[in-house]
Amino acid sequence: MTQIDNEVSMIRETARRFVRTRLVPLEQQIETDDDVSLDLLAQLRAEVAALGLYGFNLPESVGGPGLSAAAKLAILEELTYTSVPLSEVFGHLPLQLTQMDERQRADLLPGILAGQQTVTYALTEPNAGSDLSGLRTRAEKVEGGWLLNGSKHFISHAETADYIIVLAVTDPTASLKSKLTTFIVHRNSPGLVGMTRYRKMGWRGYHLNGFTLENCFVPDEDVLGAPHAGFLGMMRSINHDRLLSASRSLGLSSRAQTMACEYALERKAFGANLAQHQAVQFMVADNDVEIEAARELIRVAAEMIERDDSQAHVAACRAKLYASEMGCRVTDRVLQIFGGMGYMTELPVERFYRDARAFRIGEGTSEMQRIQIARAALAQAGGRHGV
Ligand SMILES: Cc1cc2nc3c(=O)[nH]c(=O)nc-3n(C[C@H](O)[C@H](O)[C@H](O)COP(=O)(O)OP(=O)(O)OC[C@H]3O[C@@H](n4cnc5c(N)ncnc54)[C@H](O)[C@@H]3O)c2cc1C
Repeated sequence: MTQIDNEVSMIRETARRFVRTRLVPLEQQIETDDDVSLDLLAQLRAEVAALGLYGFNLPESVGGPGLSAAAKLAILEELTYTSVPLSEVFGHLPLQLTQMDERQRADLLPGILAGQQTVTYALTEPNAGSDLSGLRTRAEKVEGGWLLNGSKHFISHAETADYIIVLAVTDPTASLKSKLTTFIVHRNSPGLVGMTRYRKMGWRGYHLNGFTLENCFVPDEDVLGAPHAGFLGMMRSINHDRLLSASRSLGLSSRAQTMACEYALERKAFGANLAQHQAVQFMVADNDVEIEAARELIRVAAEMIERDDSQAHVAACRAKLYASEMGCRVTDRVLQIFGGMGYMTELPVERFYRDARAFRIGEGTSEMQRIQIARAALAQAGGRHGV
């Protein structure tokens, strides 16, 4: 084992111990309450920060640990073992933070990196999800800043985040690449109104919100990155966010598969363990192959992102598409192996099944990933044929 391998396995072990002993025991209560105490989350973030793992995805340039792709993947694999709201305490932070200027870094970053202040990202609107050309939130230049008007919905933790990174249209006549600007909106800003919370199929305890910006004043100093460069800023972070989503699906699926195997070895039917019935073995085998295929696609994409490969975005789309769709197939088979018990809320199996469904939608739907993958494949073939 090299020194780097040793470091990665130590990091993995630290993350695993924390997830399994500290977070997993909290899952069921959060699921039942569909809520979680903010004090508890703050406490857990502080504990992760004390382990040196909070904000693990950030580069050193913004005060992150600057971990290798392998180390980040190891942490992702471990943290995604637990439910989505709890895994958030590891602080997979928006890469848009790397666009902060000196003043923003000095004033805002220390609290964010310590897990004392939280930040979320607001892009989606009632009339624009996959199709960003439909974004309607407008920011108009006024003396000393900008006035924001519009609505955002399906925004993770908007009701509790200290800062909401908002994408708004600043040049409606420009192409998508240069029409958007990114703003740091403080949650208590007057003008940020009408906060609502959605009821959801899964991810219980993880709040998704909608809100309105009504003449919400954002000072010039809270513009993140250059004006009109919001789209490019978003593209810098999108591969990482897709890998997070793919990893969540992988983590959940491999945990579900382990539970299914253990159950199949214990539960008896027709004078044998379930595991001895070939139909059950086939489900276990299909799960195994699909989980390993997703793991490999994620690993390859992570390496390509790390070395800034020009095809990294396609690799991230492949990993995101395959892992998210795999999660639904695997959790469905796992629930089948558990039979009636799989459908009952005593076990987390039905939760895995519900939670997996969101991965095919968030961070770009499966269809959006397919469009990107097909475009790249066709462009490559077109190039070979001189088109
Ligand atoms: C759990 C969860 C967390 C989220 N968190 C956030 C967040 O923190 N911040 C944020 O900004 N957003 C967030 N979202 C929103 C998410 O990014 C959007 O829901 C997603 O991008 C899809 O947009 P939409 O819901 O408007 O669907 P639409 O864009 O309306 O699409 C509806 C359906 O049509 C399909 N479709 C659309 N266009 C095409 C096409 N050209 N070809 C083929 N099919 C097409 C889509 O794939 C989809 O199946 C979250 C969503 C979920 C479910």
